[in-house]
Formats: sequence, structure tokens, C-alpha cells
Amino acid sequence: MNLFETIHASEHEEVVFCHNKDAGLRAIIAIHNTTLGPALGGLRMWPYASEDEALNDVLRLSRGMTYKAAVAGLNLGGGKSVIIGDPKSDKSEALFRALGRFVESLNGRYITAEDVGIDVNDMEYVFQETANVVGVHQVHGGSGDPSPFTAYGTLQGIKASLNFKFDNEEVGKYSYAVQGAGHVGFELIKLLRNEGAKVFVSDINEASVQQAAELGCEIVGSDDIHRVDAEVYCPCALGAVVNEKTIPEFRFKIICGAANNQLATTECGDELEKRGLVYAPDYAVNAGGLMNVSIEFEGYNRERAMRMMRTIYYNVGRIFQIAGRDGIASWRAADRMAEERVAAIGKLKLPFLGRSHRFPGRSRGNNQ
Ligand code: NAD
Repeated sequence: MNLFETIHASEHEEVVFCHNKDAGLRAIIAIHNTTLGPALGGLRMWPYASEDEALNDVLRLSRGMTYKAAVAGLNLGGGKSVIIGDPKSDKSEALFRALGRFVESLNGRYITAEDVGIDVNDMEYVFQETANVVGVHQVHGGSGDPSPFTAYGTLQGIKASLNFKFDNEEVGKYSYAVQGAGHVGFELIKLLRNEGAKVFVSDINEASVQQAAELGCEIVGSDDIHRVDAEVYCPCALGAVVNEKTIPEFRFKIICGAANNQLATTECGDELEKRGLVYAPDYAVNAGGLMNVSIEFEGYNRERAMRMMRTIYYNVGRIFQIAGRDGIASWRAADRMAEERVAAIGKLKLPFLGRSHRFPGRSRGNNQ
């Protein structure tokens, strides 16, 4: 791989290769764009088959964070970090503290958080070396589990989509197919059922299915959820569930869920548009978790977080407006909205050069 060409093509500001022999650390921190503010994005640990694979992943994910934060209206840029290693066998205090020191060395240009393969105990070690961590435990004045916020934000996206399609946002009048009743999916199911909606649910985990059944949901097989006769499809499990195979079988009118990367390809997004299906872009809909952690910068406040989730309603509505204005598919309109905001603010501001974040109300140190 030609490193600089790859970084140039993905338009990254900075890519840091982190190595510590004693700790066995091999990690990459990617800062995509800091026009709007410090680059924020989670730390992932994964047994990547090669260094190229790890680099491609971190470049793709950090770019995605720029778009997500921009559309969410946050003053944050996009970044991400990956550790090459097996989360089942390669974790140690030294590994995470070494990574924490690299994050600290970036002087606030990059803020980290939990992602795939990382848990709250790992982040405790990172947090010992740098304050530039969000999503920390409530005992440290952090925001804790983001899932209920992501679910509530998804409900706002659903309301905006109903309003666009049916000219009303009476959630209880419509039926929903929720794929995945995990952290976010189950919270969303509760919100939908509270509104009296008919909800179909699938999950590969029997206990999750059982919980949903107790709330009065109709359980559907994992292979059949995309074929259900419901108005709204809410993917809350895997990515790439909107693909060449599933699209022809859809009877839905709206797709709006929390799962990341729902479209298998951008062509699938265009196909939905051709078929008249309303697609609420995933990264605009599932920004609730990011909004929630962003409040830690000013001292976490749960009430403020809940109010902020309402922004998702307006953002999704704005995306549909841009799609109409420019005659483009909604996934493209979301990208355009992000790019327009970064460009407009970029004209006013210089790139973020780093500063110490204060995080009032938080305490640091080992609480074990
Ligand atoms: P989770 O692991 O708690 O839940 C996922 C659920 O999907 C599990 O119950 C799992 O059994 C189920 N599942 C897996 N494969 C399935 C299949 N083939 N069919 C049906 N169900 C299946 O994860 P989560 O935190 O609830 O996140 C769900 C999605 O939302 C993910 O794509 C995640 O990236 C995205 N997301 C989550 C948050 C958050 O705040 N947790 C924020 C943004 C985006």
C-alpha cells in the first residue's frame, strides 16, 4: 500500500501509528477532519488480518465520524482509533495505558471512547493516562450507557420520516419491524409499544426475543423480518441489511433504524429512492449516542441530553428537504448536508489546533 496516497485520497489531516514494544501495542489513530472541533470517535480492538486492513478500517470509520458529527450539528470533528489484537487474549493494563499516552500526546485533537472489542474496564486504564476520553462511567461524572439515548433519537428519526411520508407523526398508528432487540433495539421497542404501536421483532438471541414477546411484540424469524408487512423497518442489529436480495422483498414504506452501515452499497440507497421508499440515513438517525457523550465536555446533564435528541427530528427532516431540493437520494443528501456544514464553518474558522478540555464535574483515577 502507498501510505501517503491512501491518506491523501481519504482526505485525512493526520494518521498516527502507535507502537510500544513492552506493552505489545500496535495501534493507529486517524484524525479525519477537525474543522468543526476536536476529532471524536471510539477505540476499536480487532484481530485484523493485516496492517492494511486495520488502516483501511480506521480511515473509513474516522471519515464516517466527521459526517455523523457534522449532520448532528455538533462542534466535533471525525476521528477513530484501532488496536491490532485479539480482545479475548491480548488485553492488558499496559496496552491501554500505552494507548492512553498516545491519545494524550495529541493534546486534545483526538478524543476517544468505547467501540467494538473495548469495555468500560479497558477505558478506565486509558482514562488514567488522558482526560481526552468520553462515555466514561457515571462514577467519574461521565454519561454511561448511550443506548437509551440512541433509541430515543431513533424515535425522533421515525417521527420525521412519518411526517415526511404520511404528513403526521402518530407513531402508534403504524406498524414496525425491529431487527435486533439488543441494547438499542429493546429500548426502541419499549418506546414504540408505549405509543401503542404494533411491533414485529426478530433476534438470534432467544432471551432477547422472550423479553420482546413479554411486551406484546409479534416474534418473527431472523430470515423473515425484512419480508414483514409493516410500514416501518427498523434495523437495530447488523449492517448491510438493505441489499440486492432484500430490497425486492420489502413491503415497507420507511426504513429508519439505529444499525450502522445499513446500505450494502450506495447503489442500494439509490434503488430505494427509485422505488419510492423513504430511507432515513443511518448515521443521522443513530447520532443520539454521540450527542449524549458530547455533553460531557460541558459537564454531563441527562436532561439536556434528552432535549438534544430532538435535534435528530429536524436533521432528518432537513435531509429529506435537501434530497427534494437537489433531486438526489437521501443517503447522498445526508453527505451533502455534512459537507456543506463543514465547508461553511471552515470558511470562518481555522482547523482546531488542540487545547485542554476541562470536563467539569468529572473525577479521574482508578476506582477499582
Ligand atoms: P447489541 O449487540 O446490544 O444488540 C444487537 C442485537 O442484534 C443483539 O441482541 C443480537 O443478538 C441481535 N442480532 C445479531 N444478529 C442478528 C440477526 N441476524 N437478526 C436479528 N438480530 C440479530 O448492539 P446495540 O448497542 O443495540 O447496537 C445495535 C446497532 O446499532 C449496531 O449496528 C450498532 O453499531 C448501532 N449503534 C448503536 C449505538 C448505541 O448507542 N449502542 C449507537 C449508534 C449505533
